[in-house]
Amino acid sequence: MKNKREDLKFKKRIVVKIGSSSLQHAQTGGMDYARMEKLVRELCNLKNRGMDVILVSSGAIAAGRNAVNMKAHRTGCGAMTMAEKQACSAIGQARLMMTYQKLFGEYNQLTAQILMTKNTVLDDTNRINAINTFTELMDMGAIPVVNENDTVATHEIEIGDNDTLSAIVSAMVGADLLILLSDIKGLYTDDPRKNPDAKLLDTVEDLTDEILEMGKGSTGSSVGTGGMNTKLTAAQIATRSGADMIICSSEDLGILNRLIDGSNEGTIFLSDPEDDFDLPGFIRNIHHD
Ligand code: GLU
Repeated sequence: MKNKREDLKFKKRIVVKIGSSSLQHAQTGGMDYARMEKLVRELCNLKNRGMDVILVSSGAIAAGRNAVNMKAHRTGCGAMTMAEKQACSAIGQARLMMTYQKLFGEYNQLTAQILMTKNTVLDDTNRINAINTFTELMDMGAIPVVNENDTVATHEIEIGDNDTLSAIVSAMVGADLLILLSDIKGLYTDDPRKNPDAKLLDTVEDLTDEILEMGKGSTGSSVGTGGMNTKLTAAQIATRSGADMIICSSEDLGILNRLIDGSNEGTIFLSDPEDDFDLPGFIRNIHHD
């Protein structure tokens, strides 16, 4: 599999996903500007290597919640209402984008915002329009920043997590690599937080039932919505639509360019393209409860 890692430098179109917990300070919930700066620098560097780059960034609800001083971990009756979440995402998405604009601007890098819902994938006209916009933006040399449109995405039309969203984007734009930056180093044979003998898998060639089973019941971090289950859903979408996918740690964001240099980090899921992969059909049938 050494060659697979070495071949990553020939990738043409990369989607990178980062979660809320990787963009904020754990203690305060405030935005971690140093990490955002590093992320943007790494992405601009990938762009300068000649690759098309798209960022799928979470953090809107977290940033909004922080802006209005709403406690991050309210549970039970005190859990955020749909309207609160939507209001927080409206506040937070604007803050997030303002920060990205500023940071990309420092590298003279054009950026743009794309907000999607499930309808963007399911509705043919919406989907084709979105694909045209992505294509045009990349022709213009921009790095699009994508998030779910949480402000309007109620339960019926939400994708619900950005792991799945990033794989959808990857399939829509015909990316050949999807990188999920995570608070976990990759896919383990068992939950490493509970089982010290759990082993990190280097490569997954086939998404067998046994592999898919490894994601069941995983909860992920307390701030984002993605756990291993959603990452394995993302792996199915990405690999079946023709992209390799890597799950790796977001601890040191230098990992993005190291991976492209062939570094053996994280878990790589090898692409297994299906000519007739039905993206809207697959999305219609996902249930993550
Ligand atoms: N779209 C949500 C946000 O920006 C995050 C979803 C996720 O973490 O997967 O706050």
